[in-house]
Amino acid sequence: MQFYFSKEYDSFDLGKVEYYRCDCCGFTLSKTHTEMSDHSWKRLNHQYHSSYHGQETCPDDPKWIKRLNTQSMVISDLTKLGLLESKGRWLDFACGDGKLSDTLKENHDLNLLKYDKYMQKTIGFITDEALVKRSFDFVITTSVFEHFTRREDFDFVESLVSINGVLGLHTLVCEDVPQDPSWFYLLPVHCAFHTNRSMSLLFKQWGYSASIYNVEAQLWLWFKTDPEKIQSTILKANLRENRPKYFYKPDFVDYWKVIPYRQ
Ligand SMILES: [Zn+2]
Repeated sequence: MQFYFSKEYDSFDLGKVEYYRCDCCGFTLSKTHTEMSDHSWKRLNHQYHSSYHGQETCPDDPKWIKRLNTQSMVISDLTKLGLLESKGRWLDFACGDGKLSDTLKENHDLNLLKYDKYMQKTIGFITDEALVKRSFDFVITTSVFEHFTRREDFDFVESLVSINGVLGLHTLVCEDVPQDPSWFYLLPVHCAFHTNRSMSLLFKQWGYSASIYNVEAQLWLWFKTDPEKIQSTILKANLRENRPKYFYKPDFVDYWKVIPYRQ
């Protein structure tokens, strides 16, 4: 990776943060965060999340609630389309306070297990021991992939998805990460910035065969098997009135390049 740019932070004792970019895929990572001790990284997260009331984490933010409701509705729609098995074992990895799971239960009677490294002792959360590899039919992460500092962290999440399982992702993906210290996505706790190329590489390395995207929910679903079946299901689903629409691609769907709802 090559030095890309740096940004000076005046909060959380962060100081100068250096971002490096992969020549090949454009994936950009904070070297500063990667080199932080576990203790400093935890302290930064704790300080940031207890001080911050921004759009991602604040339960009072209407956008956040709206997105959760939309994501729940889309997940429910996918069970009706037969693309997610409602009786399967589902997990929200790094779920925070578990609001998505609560919303799915309340509004759609769907069960989504909760896991968060920092909230394990709370009722309704599963423990580290329950994170058995390949044991979940559906693993979803929302606003998590921008917080990882190591490749193993991404691989670990994927390793939880069963052989024929589905991976759900809500994160920011760009065509190119701007070489710009004032870019809105550079937050004190964001350290990994993905591109269409880096996501496509993960997609292939992990053995996925098709993905879909819903714009309103800002949600990707990655599938391992039956790309033709998924494509024909999506084609039919997109003909419905007043129901969620999906982009499809037998690769990572860089949706803004795909002709709307025809592929
Ligand atoms: Zn790369």
